[in-house]
Amino acid sequence: MRDVLTALAKLWKIDDAAKGYDEELRTLPEKIAAMRRDVDMLEGLLTAERAQVAEAEALKASRAEDLVERREALSRAKSKASRSRTLKESDAADREVEATRRTIADREREITTLEETLNAKRGTLEARERQLEEAKNIANEETTAAEARLAEVRVARETVVVGRDELVEALPRRVVKRYEKLRTRDRFLPVSIVTGPTCVSCRMTLPAQLCIEVKRAGEKSPAKPDIEDFLVCPQCHAFLVHIDFVEPPPPSV
Ligand SMILES: [Zn+2]
Repeated sequence: MRDVLTALAKLWKIDDAAKGYDEELRTLPEKIAAMRRDVDMLEGLLTAERAQVAEAEALKASRAEDLVERREALSRAKSKASRSRTLKESDAADREVEATRRTIADREREITTLEETLNAKRGTLEARERQLEEAKNIANEETTAAEARLAEVRVARETVVVGRDELVEALPRRVVKRYEKLRTRDRFLPVSIVTGPTCVSCRMTLPAQLCIEVKRAGEKSPAKPDIEDFLVCPQCHAFLVHIDFVEPPPPSV
C-alpha cells in the first residue's frame, strides 16, 4: 500500500508543479490577444478620427468655394446698385448687397469655426497616432517576450511531467479517475499530505482515529489495492497521504 500512496503523492507533486506552467500556457496567449485587441481598437479610433478630419476638410473647401461665389455675387450686386435708375431699383439693389454681405459674413464665421474644429481634430489625431505607435511597440515587445517565455515553459513543463504516465499506470484506475476529478476543483486539493492533525486541503481537524489510520496506511497490504483502501478527508474528500510516504522526503524546515 505504501508504494501506491507514494505514487499518488508523487503524481500530485508533478501536477502541482505543472500547474503553474499550465496556467502560463493558458494566460500568456490570452495576454497577447488582449494587447492585439487594444492595438486594433486604437487603430479603429484613428481611422474614425481621420475620417472626421477629412469630412471637416471637405466641408471647409466647399464653404470656401461658396465664399468665392458670394464675393463675386456681391460685386455684381454693387455694380447693379450703381447702375440703378429708379428709387425702387436702387432699394432692391441695396437690399441684395446687404443680404449678400450677411451671407458672406456667415460663411466667414463658418469657415473660422471649421478651422478651429479642424485644428482641434488634428491635435487629437496626432495624439492618437502617437498612442497607437506606442501601443504597437509595447505589444510587439511583449509578444516577443511572451513567445520566448512560452517556449521556456513548454520545455520546463515537459521536464516536470517526466514519469507521470508510469505513476498513473501504477495506481488503481478508479483512484486516478477520482483524482482527476478532484483536481478540477478550485478550493480544495486532490491530495492532502498530512503532517499533523489537520487536513491541509480544507484545514479541518481530522478525527484522531483517522489520523492514526492515515499514519498506518502504508503498513496495510491489500492483494490488489483499490479505491476503498485509500483514506479521504471527511470534509473535502481529498486523498489523505501521510508525509512519511512522500518521496523524496521534503526538506526539513
Ligand atoms: Zn479536507
